[in-house]
Amino acid sequence: MKKITVFATLSLSVVGCGSAQTSGQNKSAADANTNSWIGAVKAGATAYSSIKNMNDAQIADLGSKFDVELRKKGNILDSGSEVELIRQIGSRLAPASSKPDMQFQFSVVDSAEINAFATVGGYVYINKGLISFVKNNDELAGAIAHEMGHNIAKHVLEKLAEISAADAALASLSGPELIAALPSKVGYTVLLAPHLSRNAEFQADQLGFQNSWKAGYNACELVGFFSQMRKTYGDKSTIMSDHPSNTNRIEALLPLAQKLGIPGGCSSAND
Ligand SMILES: [Zn+2]
Repeated sequence: MKKITVFATLSLSVVGCGSAQTSGQNKSAADANTNSWIGAVKAGATAYSSIKNMNDAQIADLGSKFDVELRKKGNILDSGSEVELIRQIGSRLAPASSKPDMQFQFSVVDSAEINAFATVGGYVYINKGLISFVKNNDELAGAIAHEMGHNIAKHVLEKLAEISAADAALASLSGPELIAALPSKVGYTVLLAPHLSRNAEFQADQLGFQNSWKAGYNACELVGFFSQMRKTYGDKSTIMSDHPSNTNRIEALLPLAQKLGIPGGCSSAND
């Protein structure tokens, strides 16, 4: 929402600049408008790059601070059979991931909704509803590895950089102050539904599939998971994003299965 507001402001400033050709007063107002616009763009660019250029330790620290904010909501579980299960699967996936030095943290959200999300620096959150929905641990491993993929590819970090660039209050802060302000300023709902791009979702699927395969899970069960979602809810995913569709996600994974030499190329999972 804030992003749209800023974009609208930019449009109005440009119109004001282009039409300023009458009185000197109007011209100086237009100049001030232009300077303000340039200042906002510069601040936004600085904020964007200060988030994008964070090192791994800073990103992990940011993930930890987001975790503290999320726990204030009180629905994140740290014990119980579901927590044990996802941490057991996660500890098998982590060393086989494409970033084995990342310190992954796996938590369960006490929600019946079939969903999961990631933040930054290795933090993965899986809803109880998703754990109940999956048919087996291989499907669950695929979903967990998908969220790990978002961390590895820094998809949410990119989203946070975009949010910071577009929000005047955040963009006015300097690097360390901006990073410190992010966890409390960025809402819970943004993390739950960060509206990642289709490409980000496809990339996380590919990373997740490959990770679960390398860790010795039946990676085809990620295809089976999307197939099951399609059967239950139609061809629109309720997990991880509103789009792409389950069919699109399956079709993007099948060539990877062939490339990895998985017998049958996961075609039997796509029923
Ligand atoms: Zn996703």
